[in-house]
Amino acid sequence: YPPERIRNFSIIAHIDHGKSTLADRLLELTGVISKTGKNKQVLDKLKVERERGITVKAQSASMFYEHGGHKYLLNLIDTPGHVDFSYEVSRSLAACQGTILLVDAAQGIQAQTVANFYLAFGEGLAVVPMLNKVDLPTAEPARAAEQIESAFEIDASGVLHMSAKTGLGVDRVLPAVIEKIPPPGGRIDRPLRALLFDTWYDKYVGVVCLVAVKDGAIRKGCRIVSSHSKTRYEVAEVGIMHPEPTPTTSLQVGQVGYITCNMKSISEAHVGDTFYRDKEPVEALPGFVPAKSMVFAGVFPVDADEFDRLDESVQKLTLNDSSVSVHKETSAALGQGWRLGFLGTLHMDVFRQRLEEEYDANVLVTAPTVPYQIKYRDGRTQFIRTPADFPSAAAMQDAVEATLEPFVSATMIFPEQYMGAMLELCTVHRGEIQGHTFIDESRVMLKCRLPTAEIVTDFFDRLKSKSQGFASFDYEEAGYDASDLVKMEVLLNGEPVDALAAVMHRRTVAAAGRDMAQRLKGVIRRQLFDIIIQTAANGKIVARETVKQLRKNVTAKCYGGDVSRKMKLLNKQKEGKKRMKKFGKVELPQEAFLDVMTTS
Ligand code: GDP
Ligand code: MG
Repeated sequence: YPPERIRNFSIIAHIDHGKSTLADRLLELTGVISKTGKNKQVLDKLKVERERGITVKAQSASMFYEHGGHKYLLNLIDTPGHVDFSYEVSRSLAACQGTILLVDAAQGIQAQTVANFYLAFGEGLAVVPMLNKVDLPTAEPARAAEQIESAFEIDASGVLHMSAKTGLGVDRVLPAVIEKIPPPGGRIDRPLRALLFDTWYDKYVGVVCLVAVKDGAIRKGCRIVSSHSKTRYEVAEVGIMHPEPTPTTSLQVGQVGYITCNMKSISEAHVGDTFYRDKEPVEALPGFVPAKSMVFAGVFPVDADEFDRLDESVQKLTLNDSSVSVHKETSAALGQGWRLGFLGTLHMDVFRQRLEEEYDANVLVTAPTVPYQIKYRDGRTQFIRTPADFPSAAAMQDAVEATLEPFVSATMIFPEQYMGAMLELCTVHRGEIQGHTFIDESRVMLKCRLPTAEIVTDFFDRLKSKSQGFASFDYEEAGYDASDLVKMEVLLNGEPVDALAAVMHRRTVAAAGRDMAQRLKGVIRRQLFDIIIQTAANGKIVARETVKQLRKNVTAKCYGGDVSRKMKLLNKQKEGKKRMKKFGKVELPQEAFLDVMTTS
């Protein structure tokens, strides 16, 4: 297949607009999978994807298709829609020349339609809009087309109408892809230049690399070099995803496919790397800007003995998800573990679930925090990864010029009648409204700058409930601003419990302090003396609770919190290993830490 008979394209859309369903129909139409009518999101291969009904991992599939008397090789990349996986989308787009922008004709443009459009537009890709779900009685294709024109300033007059569910109009999709998306560039007679854009770990063959061949060709047995590490490899296998790995004799210029080359360790596979042929060095491709972690969380093995095994699992999984950042961390309460950086809280949840399901791990994940920054008078800046890094009161006085917190630039799309509720929501969360536009006569697109810390908690749930589900939301990181940060400390009978400290904006301390004191009260067992729980910031007490001493004839207060999942984890912890921490005379059982520190 010469480049002019190849098309590399992806499907981008808001979550649930039908990307994966359209991918199923296209794979059926080209005979890659059989037409049983039972195929459901076949490219969503991970268990977590099937359970949650969302795509978290981009997958590629090659198809053969005849059009206008010619045979074409089409490579489709199905991508996630949710903002937390946008790094996955942007990497996949580097292997494509164009994309189908799929819009649900009943819902119209949503926040992630906008975000994904700009990702593709920024990469210089050809964007072909298409309207899906026209079978729904509530579909308003004319209105959706109008929104596409006004939001993106692209011509939507001849936009294709289809139903990925019923198959209506799906036969016109691939001809449109061939006609509207340009073929890959590059030349077969130039030295090999291949972009490594995804990797995963396979039990049997080890590290698998997904590559886009930009020039030349790659064959089994040829010797290649990594631009990143200058390590040499012999190619053991090349092939295409069809949709399972299927060996071929070579991957030629313009093609997307996989290679294996006996990489000894997982750390050798560097997403964004360029491979070239031994003794024929080429200029490396630009690669990818590393993902910027938006939230951090501590991850710890439930059983400390499992640390080494979990370490390997974390490495293997980050090979498949290069947007996770990893640092080792030791917590006084939870032992040895990691501080992992994620693109959002859904990303964090999915990572936890994948560790448990794909690697059979039992992990504790602490509540997420954002990367605050301290600017010192001597010009240094420091990231606050854990509250222990926060400067002391004295240092705050003498050495600190400013404390800063990260912000996001948010886009919300909703029907006009929710304007008041959405403005209020932004204000309550310390947001700054930046303006709004109408994308049709009754739908508003609102822009707002918000502290990242505000959106990692329940912002999304409140957005959905205040708009009866009609508002959609997307964000991108938008730098740092000076912010009045404090460290909230937790004291038990006057003794600080470092593991429970937290950094936050001064305005949120009162509520967080009360919440923490109440939750601790609920989980601390009565002892033979009163236990005073205090939360404090800047030397001032913000909340106080007392656990009354145990008196005769009163049975000990049983452990209270919502514990089903945590207790299951704890039961897996070997007997005799239960950790009890002492603070002064106060004993705090492991369950208490779990309850107040981890997310369930
Ligand atoms: P994705 O998140 O964009 O990958 O969306 P999915 O392909 O997972 O589809 C989300 C939901 O919409 C699923 O329940 C699909 O069955 C449904 N769906 C997809 N396409 C259509 C369509 O054309 N018509 C109708 N009525 N439902 C559809
Ligand atoms: Mg999907």
